[in-house]
Amino acid sequence: MQADCSNIRKFADAADYTRRFVVKGQIDKYLPGGSHFIDDARINELVAKCDGSPADPVRVREIVAKSESTCETLLPEETAELMKVTDPALFEEMRAAADRIKHKVYDNRIVVFAPLYMSNLCVNGCRYCGFREGNSEQRRRVLTMDELKEELDVLAGRIGHKRLIAVYGEHPTTSTEYIAETIETCYAHAVPAPKTGNKNAIRRVNVNAAPLPVEDLRVLRSVGIGTFQVFQETYNRKLYESMHPAWSVKGNYDWRVTAFHRCMEAGVDDVGLGVLYGLCDWRYELLATVMHARDLERWFNIGPHTLSFPRLEPASGTRVPDESPWLIDDATFARILVIARLSVPYTGIIVTARESPESRNRALGCGMTQLDCSSNIAIKGYSDFANEAHQEKDRQQFMLGDNRSLDEMVRYLASRGTITSFCTAGYRCGRTGGCIMDALKTGREGKFCKINAVLTFREWLDDFASADTCRIGDALIEKELAGIKEWLPKFYPTVMKQYEATCRGERDLFF
Ligand code: SAM
Ligand code: SF4
Repeated sequence: MQADCSNIRKFADAADYTRRFVVKGQIDKYLPGGSHFIDDARINELVAKCDGSPADPVRVREIVAKSESTCETLLPEETAELMKVTDPALFEEMRAAADRIKHKVYDNRIVVFAPLYMSNLCVNGCRYCGFREGNSEQRRRVLTMDELKEELDVLAGRIGHKRLIAVYGEHPTTSTEYIAETIETCYAHAVPAPKTGNKNAIRRVNVNAAPLPVEDLRVLRSVGIGTFQVFQETYNRKLYESMHPAWSVKGNYDWRVTAFHRCMEAGVDDVGLGVLYGLCDWRYELLATVMHARDLERWFNIGPHTLSFPRLEPASGTRVPDESPWLIDDATFARILVIARLSVPYTGIIVTARESPESRNRALGCGMTQLDCSSNIAIKGYSDFANEAHQEKDRQQFMLGDNRSLDEMVRYLASRGTITSFCTAGYRCGRTGGCIMDALKTGREGKFCKINAVLTFREWLDDFASADTCRIGDALIEKELAGIKEWLPKFYPTVMKQYEATCRGERDLFF
């Protein structure tokens, strides 16, 4: 299917591009009467209280119990109370609760994906980013559709990925029409798997790109976008303005912060929030994230599908990642994840390969649900470098910390009793946004998805895994099937029918 872009306006030049991409009416609609859902004064008041008084353990335990039993988003003042905790034993109680909530909502699954950078051309001047306009240390390119297919040959054909986060700079040459064409190309390009020759293709393309107007989001919806991610970078307006020059499209804070309200309006109801940790006080950011989630729930009854936790990393031509006064250490990073899991209990939590292996291993016990592996973020990096772990600073946005391959990661997860899920059934069955909010909160979705996790894990083991990974993966599948039999005895024969068909080489079976 060809994307229908007839309803979106073309632009004449760069100035016209900026006008086209900041639509005042589509901002004001969600900030009625000049009010703002990111309440700066209230956040500052709560942060000051965190500094001024110790945590009340009784209150902390009440809040944790509420989060665990209701799976509803906490109030900002409840999140602030959790932030006061410094006692290691009380924090450990919080971490254990975060881990239980993760299991209630998502069971023992971890979803894996790969980043795919489509371009590094950018009209913006974000001070921390290697792609920013005018950075002469960066070699620029935009993937052609043929080059994209070469990248997919590696991602889907050699590694076995089924889920991508497609990433774009912001530039007239890579705007909505280009994003739509790349998504369609990803879905259409099936490649034979090395072990079996079974065809594998990308089944879910999530997108990380600049905020878009409603009309453009409708185009992306029509070509089957998965989650739309836009990281706010920092919710602190003053700091935001110091990092994003006023002359740039991204310089408009309110256009960015209302991105997901427009997504919901356009029917793109899986949205991914994020903050670039290290730019500002993490407590400010987490409290603002809670306010953002609550405002989406208030308007649309749908909260964030995922929260991402990128941390500032070294990048070409910038000192910001070394000099920011708000850089955080690994222990604080783990704390942020735990408080986030307790504050927005139903959401997916993504920790990318920016982190070190140790930090990501630890994140597994702090509520994380999704990670990337075998990642290469150089433009055309997958097909140009025989070794996925190879990195080149002048071809990528920042440097990665965890270079583990998908095979290594799957084996590691299985050794912890965690199943790797390649399931992408959700959005293809209409289980997105509001339709799954209740199922997530009650734990129904987590259990149900285990069946699809087992089927897709079987596919991947047969088509791509090394002998060592197959051995440990097979044992885990046996255990999971026994669990399903006990949980759903009547449905079990139907599950086994699909499982046996998958073993015979049928692909993409799901419930
Ligand atoms: N260009 C679009 C935008 O900014 O909205 C798409 C996203 S950009 C290619 C992906 C994300 O990378 C940014 O939103 C930012 O959070 C993150 N990023 C930028 N520079 C970074 C750095 N030095 N370290 C870690 N993450 C960085
Ligand atoms: Fe461009 Fe995004 Fe980098 Fe900013 S973060 S310079 S918008 S690619």
